[in-house]
Amino acid sequence: MPDEARVPTVIGAARGAGTGDVMDGLMQPRPLTIAHILERAERLYAHKQVTTVGAERVTYGEVAHNTRRLGTALDSLDVPVGARVATFAANTRRHLELYLAVPATKRVLHSINIRLSAEHLEYIVNHAEDDVIFVDRELLPRIWPSADRLPKVRHWVVLPDGSDTAIPADPRILDYDELIEGVEPFAGSFEDTFTLADENLASGLCYTSGTTGRPKGVLYSHRSTVLHCLGTLAAGFIGLCESDVVMPIVPMFHANAWGLPYGAMMTGASLVLPGLSSNPAHLLGLMAAERVTVAGAVPTVWTSMAPKLRAHDLSATRFLLGGGSAVAPALSETYRAAIGVPITHSWGMTEISPVGVIGGTRTQHRDATAEEQVAVRAAQGQPLPLVNVRIVDVETGQELPRDGDAVGEVQVAGPWVAGGYFRVDGGDSFTADGWLRTGDLATIDASGYLRIVDRVKDLIKSGGEWISSVELEGVISSHPDVVEVAVIARPDPRWMERPVAYVVLRDGATTTADELLRHITPMVAKWWLPDDVVFMPTLPKTGTGKLSKSALRDSTRIA
Ligand code: AMP
Repeated sequence: MPDEARVPTVIGAARGAGTGDVMDGLMQPRPLTIAHILERAERLYAHKQVTTVGAERVTYGEVAHNTRRLGTALDSLDVPVGARVATFAANTRRHLELYLAVPATKRVLHSINIRLSAEHLEYIVNHAEDDVIFVDRELLPRIWPSADRLPKVRHWVVLPDGSDTAIPADPRILDYDELIEGVEPFAGSFEDTFTLADENLASGLCYTSGTTGRPKGVLYSHRSTVLHCLGTLAAGFIGLCESDVVMPIVPMFHANAWGLPYGAMMTGASLVLPGLSSNPAHLLGLMAAERVTVAGAVPTVWTSMAPKLRAHDLSATRFLLGGGSAVAPALSETYRAAIGVPITHSWGMTEISPVGVIGGTRTQHRDATAEEQVAVRAAQGQPLPLVNVRIVDVETGQELPRDGDAVGEVQVAGPWVAGGYFRVDGGDSFTADGWLRTGDLATIDASGYLRIVDRVKDLIKSGGEWISSVELEGVISSHPDVVEVAVIARPDPRWMERPVAYVVLRDGATTTADELLRHITPMVAKWWLPDDVVFMPTLPKTGTGKLSKSALRDSTRIA
């Protein structure tokens, strides 16, 4: 263990005694830690199951045992306390063991999005200064070519996943199962190694795409993660509980799989971890076979599963979460008609751990017409307990009324909301009074329901993943014939949004769309390539001569 066991002591004296003085309470100052989530599952729910790739079944007891061995193994690799331990992995039980062992031993879990371009990937690994990378065997070819440009990474640990992907002969590469095989599991209480101050230690790191510039790191703490976890357990919202069977289809590298893995373990729900599968029949088959009660996915995945719903017995399902992009009311209603369960909005951001707001009706809507209820469900919903949400005028920064009409930028404050970014200036992402600016535009009604109507941030969300229009514009304008370019989102039935580039060429140039796409192909991830390149004589401008994307959207009828 990196630290000596230190059990927090109870403070014996209260601050202030006289009338009019503030007074401290006398409750135990126990820290909120991920170690508690692990040890609670181990003590109370050791028999509960995790079903993982290849129909493998393990218990929480076995996961905890491996977690304890992994803690020792990280020590033996001399991974220091506070070091970033990266994962490049699908939803599997080994990834779950990393979710637990890394923070329980006071290291920081950096889950990497496997869909990043090599350039972004190398940037974030170097920026995070990852010490070790745990990578699924099947995914090794996506990241290993960057290995020599990642000088701080001392160890590469391959997670067996049933694939037979070739493993390069390199002394830095280790095998996960061999690493933890036979090592002495940590026998003490991880939880007791934490002091009250330690609850603020960093536990996890996720990078999110900014409007401009580099991806930015959101650094979670034990405290923020545990409170967010309790948020996912709050009844009336997601309300995870022991009888649930929880299937995060949303990847564990995508904003902590929306807190579902920690939430399930905290409450003793069974977990189903479907690997990287996006095959609708496979996912539905798994939901039916495992009697899944709660599942979470981006709308693109729910859309792909919709046509096959009736072919599967989903009678156990009680709650489906849709987030990352707006869930179309028609999609939600398709699920409600087919299986009796709509898709409930989960709105949030990587910066909000990520869940801030959950949709659905409440008692005041019981007598509403079916149509009115559909409209309520179409809203993003109400903030979770402890989360504060407001809308402000984008120009003046003045808070706007909660009247369901005024549209303003959504700002959020709460104990699991980021207050800054890892090793970079937060710039204008935070207000002077410390609220997070989300870049989303919404109304809030008198009952506190948030309804997202648009986005001010210059980003495109395709299949739940960001594409930076600013970055695409940068690479397109590196072509010598391009004078001006604007990239905007086009609504797409499958991916929700796809990029389209509007380009002004220099006089006399004859460059074609294909030539432009070929020019940028080596510079961006393949799925970033615009679906269309439209040549224009000029692009619309604002009164001050700035490119007006809203006018472009209007003139091209892209809402
Ligand atoms: P990310 O940090 O990748 O999780 O992206 C967060 C952004 O995704 C938000 O600021 C929204 O623009 C969008 N988003 C997430 N959830 C929803 C939702 N339920 N409805 C509409 N937009 C959403």
